[in-house]
Parts: sequence; structure tokens; C-alpha cells
Amino acid sequence: LAPSLLANFCAENHDEQTQKVDRYLLHFQLSVETIMDVSVRFRREMDKGLCRDTNPAATVKMLPTFVLSTPDGTEQGEFLALDLGGSTFRVLLVKVRANGKQEVEMEDQIYDIPENLMRGSGSELFDHIADCLADFMEKMGIKDKKLPLGFTFSFPCQQTKLDEGVLLSWTKNFKASGVEGKDVVSLLKKSIKKRGDFDIDILAVINDTVGTMMTCGYDDHLCEIGLIVGTGTNACYMEQMRNLELLDGDEGRMCVNTEWGAFGDDGALDDLRTDVDREIDAGSLNPGKQLFEKMISGMYMGEMVRLILVKMTKEKQLFQGNATAQLLTTGSFKTSYIYSIDTDKDEEGLQKAEVVLRGLGLDPSVDDCFATQRVCQTVSTRAAHLCAASLVAVLRQIRDNKAAEKLRATIGADGSVYKNHTEFSRRLHKMVRRLVPDCDVRFLQSQCGSGKGAAMVTAVAYRLAAQNAE
Ligand code: BGC
Ligand code: MG
Repeated sequence: LAPSLLANFCAENHDEQTQKVDRYLLHFQLSVETIMDVSVRFRREMDKGLCRDTNPAATVKMLPTFVLSTPDGTEQGEFLALDLGGSTFRVLLVKVRANGKQEVEMEDQIYDIPENLMRGSGSELFDHIADCLADFMEKMGIKDKKLPLGFTFSFPCQQTKLDEGVLLSWTKNFKASGVEGKDVVSLLKKSIKKRGDFDIDILAVINDTVGTMMTCGYDDHLCEIGLIVGTGTNACYMEQMRNLELLDGDEGRMCVNTEWGAFGDDGALDDLRTDVDREIDAGSLNPGKQLFEKMISGMYMGEMVRLILVKMTKEKQLFQGNATAQLLTTGSFKTSYIYSIDTDKDEEGLQKAEVVLRGLGLDPSVDDCFATQRVCQTVSTRAAHLCAASLVAVLRQIRDNKAAEKLRATIGADGSVYKNHTEFSRRLHKMVRRLVPDCDVRFLQSQCGSGKGAAMVTAVAYRLAAQNAE
């Protein structure tokens, strides 16, 4: 697939292959009207989750987080943070200085979580987390200090206070036994106590979206939305207390974890879901759950492309009808392949498509490479646009709350797909701006946002506790 060869084939083959795939994936293409309609539906789900009477039956849970304010810059101290639930498990030590310059110093280490622990017994999982924490504290020379800790736990949790979170259900690739329905802070404390060689003060458990919002909020005070598109997808935002009917009190604001991944679990998206979406769901760890997430996030995107390629091959539309064992293997088409195949540099993307397909034992023609690229584009465009739909609903909610004609809002964003797939975030940004032309939206990408944010929340809690003690 030398560049010269490609040049000769380009225009004609490209159009032909594009049309072929587009015909095949007709149901994957969402018009702007449909995207807007999804946004309206999602806004209704948000309402349903916020209202006391409808919340029990709502799929989008709109969970209170007990995070009331973003940092004000006067926080200081040394804090530990744990970040569990994304593509990596991380332990962090964060030093916050209140010198007016908002400087944050950070040391962190990534630890492995073996698959047998992700889906084994919950107590072994928490013992492992405690072991990693001990190892980190040892290395940092802080094992004799009792430091405040913030725990980023990126799963839906019911909270009645900042330092308690009852896991509602596992999502993504976790399914450890005996954790659902339990407070994860207690489980962690128990594992630490069992070791008996160090002590910490767990002050907060937060969702990764909240961590991301807090980290970005430290740099930009207009940041009131946190967005994750990584292994899973979700968003949080600052809501008016008066709209949060589940809690008493009408004054001020609280961050709400939408858990938008569960949108559609009651059938609300059935008209848009395709055979491939149903296949993905059926083969997942949590069938019938997180249906919106399964149309969007990194854990499923590569597999979705693979399933489409397999179908097209079986129908003799690709690879002359010859599939290989690798192509037929679940998980063999990594989501990260899409990042490099679906780029604005078409030729590089095509070459990458060839490399990937050859890696799967296939012998692709130029046409096969074009078609594969188009499949990647289609799947990731739909994901970006669905994500735009729900994000726009959140923006409209904030705008209506403020009764602002023109809203200025910053969205703190993180996650492997958001950060590594440039075309995904570009399409997401573009569609959001198109659907809310009256909002001035800024996207801010955070670095280690989810973990660092836990330290920020802890720092705020620590400052408030100190103030109250005075
Ligand atoms: C979880 C959310 C999380 C998101 C992104 C979802 O599967 O339910 O709590 O924020 O993934 O990590
Ligand atoms: Mg994360």
C-alpha cells in the first residue's frame, strides 16, 4: 500500500467504499435532528432522576455527591488520593500550597490490578488496594503519617455524606463479589486495618467526573461540568439545591453525578440501537445495563468495529469473504486502533488500517482499507454525537438554572478516548457548539484529573473541618 498506489486509487475508490459502508451502516448515521431529539430525551431523564417521585424508577440516577464548592485557593496540605475504575489504577500524593499561585505538586504511581481481582472476591480487591497504598507510602517515606485521603471510585455510588459511598452496581470491566450494596470506604478501611501497619484518614469518596471537574475548577472557576469519555462515560455538573428534591435544603449548589451511562436502560433509546449494539450488550459483563455507555465508550468502540467488519466479511463485502481466526476473536480490534485509523490525515490512517488488518492475519485490498477506515469513522462519529447530545442537555439545564441568555461554561474533560482520539473530541466540540450556539463553551483537558481532584475535594473538606473546629 505504497503512497503512489494509494494516490491512483484515491478519489474513486474512496467514494465507492464510503458509499458502500454508509449504505451498510445507515442506522449508525444520526441526523442533527435526531441528535437534538436524543438531547431532549436525556433532559427529561435528568428531570426524572432529580424529582423525588420519579427518582426510584429513573434510569439516570442523578446522584448527590456532597461536593458543594470548588476550591477557593486557600486550601493547603499534603493529601493522598486513590484513583480506581478507569484504564489505570493510580495512587497519588498531592501537595497543595495556598500561596495565591495555586501551585499543586504531585507524585504518583500506577499499579496493576490483575483481571482475577477485578472480577474475583471484593475483599481480595480491597486488600490489594491497601497493599498498593502501603507500598506507595513506604516509597514516599510517609508510612508513619496519618494523612487525609480522597478516594476516586468511578462507579455509581449512593452517598449520604462525602465520606461514604454505597456501590449501586459495578460497570465496565469490574465485577468483584460482595461489594454491591456496601460502602466502599468501610471496605477499604477494613483492609487497611487488617494490615495494621499504617493508618489514614479517608475524608472523601468521589466519582472520576467530580475529580475532573474539581481539578479543572482549580484553574478555571467557571468550570462546573466534569466529563469522562474513557473506558466508560459519564458527566457531573453543579446543580441548584432547590432542584435536588432528594435532599433537604434549597440554598446553594451541589455537584450531581448524572451516571448518564445508564441512559436507555429502560428502552428509551431502543429505536436508535442497532443489531451490533444488541450484540455488544449481550456479550458484556452487565447485559441490559449501561446501554448509552455501550454506544459510546472506549471499552466497546473497538469491539463494535470488529463486529461490523465480521458481519461485512460474512456477507462477502470485505476481504473477499475470508475472515481469519484473529478477526473472529472477541477484543482483537482494540479501541486504540481507531484513534490512528480515524484521523484527519487520511493516508496515514489508511496505512494504519492496513497494518492493523494484516496484524489480524488478513490480506486487505486498498478497498478493504478504505472501508475499514469508514467503519471506524462512522462508529466514533456516532459516539461523539451521542455524547454531545447528553452534554448539551446538561448545558441547557445549567443555562435555565441561571436564567442566563448567554451562558459561559467550562467543561473539564478527561478519559482515554477524549484525550487520545483527536477526531472524537473535535466532532464532540463541534456538535456541542452547533446545538447550543447561544452558549460560550470551553473544553479544558485535565491531567490526572480524576485522582488529583480527589485530593482537591479532600483539601476542601479538610479546610472546612479545620474552620469548624476553630
Ligand atoms: C461509571 C461512572 C464513571 C464512568 C467513567 C461508568 O461506567 O458508572 O461512575 O464515571 O464510567 O469512568
Ligand atoms: Mg479515570
